[in-house]
Amino acid sequence: MIPRPFEYHVPRTLPEAIALLGELGDEAKLLAGGHSLLPMMKLRFAEPGHLIDLGKLSELKGIREVASEIRIGAMTTENELIWSTLLQAKCPLIVEGARQISDPQVRYRGTLGGDISHGDPGNDHPALMLALDASFVLAGGQGERVVPADGFFLGTYMTLLEPGEIMTEIRIPVPQAGTGSCYAKLKRKTGDFATAAAAVTLRMSNGAVSDVRIALTNVAPTALRAAAAEQSLLGKPLDEAAIAEAARLAMDVCEPVADLRGDIEYKTAMAGEMTRRALTTAYSRAAH
Ligand SMILES: Cc1cc2nc3c(=O)[nH]c(=O)nc-3n(C[C@H](O)[C@H](O)[C@H](O)COP(=O)(O)OP(=O)(O)OC[C@H]3O[C@@H](n4cnc5c(N)ncnc54)[C@H](O)[C@@H]3O)c2cc1C
Repeated sequence: MIPRPFEYHVPRTLPEAIALLGELGDEAKLLAGGHSLLPMMKLRFAEPGHLIDLGKLSELKGIREVASEIRIGAMTTENELIWSTLLQAKCPLIVEGARQISDPQVRYRGTLGGDISHGDPGNDHPALMLALDASFVLAGGQGERVVPADGFFLGTYMTLLEPGEIMTEIRIPVPQAGTGSCYAKLKRKTGDFATAAAAVTLRMSNGAVSDVRIALTNVAPTALRAAAAEQSLLGKPLDEAAIAEAARLAMDVCEPVADLRGDIEYKTAMAGEMTRRALTTAYSRAAH
């Protein structure tokens, strides 16, 4: 289908974009890479009268290390994440996750900020952000606020973003040296969203788990943290029994919907299996 007619705006600065968004209100949508918004407009699930293209805002681009944080501009594309030597060296989980998103066409245009702001439980970055303990910078007419990823995702296509706010930056504490991580994703074919996926960060100390975060993709209305599974591992050696118990506890928090990717039982079982794989691989990558 063809989208309804809309006015196209190209602000050159962030204040200009915020002012436009405030002025145009509910009638306007922000356009980043367009790989979620345009399909929705073509299906007429979204019918904005105005599109505000963020593509010319250079302040929303780039990946840098500031003190103990990695700061990524919201308009940074998946492809730029994948080829970032900073991320490859210091935060390989994002690189591993971004490489599994769709196909090169989507990865050249799709942005980190768009993937998170969209609030789609099928998107991969929300779980990666939960596992990395990220926070998001949201800018609006009233100024700027920084909110943690944990609590940002409220429901399918619902986030803490208020009308009039733009996500400008994603901040990630630099993972400590020796942290192991893995994103295990099951998909039916290249270009598909996850049937289920698990993101894990893990640190070991004196033979026991000293820190672990587990987050799941596409098995509930939002990306989920498997908090009970994390708790079950802390302070213990990571053997097969501990991993199996964590996978079982991760399955307990799943509430998937049945669709062409599988029924509820299958998706829940796959979330457990992805948790098992991600923990096993993260362990093999962690310092002991
Ligand atoms: C065939 C196909 C397969 C895909 N497979 C996957 C997959 O496996 N995993 C995955 O994670 N994604 C997948 N995607 C989605 C893709 O990654 C999108 O690019 C992403 O969801 C949205 O990013 P975008 O930059 O394209 O945002 P857009 O589509 O431009 O915007 C999406 C939404 O976010 C809002 N928005 C965008 N940027 C901001 C901002 N800075 N601040 C506030 N609001 C903002 C927009 O207004 C819009 O509502 C797939 C897409 C396609 C077409």
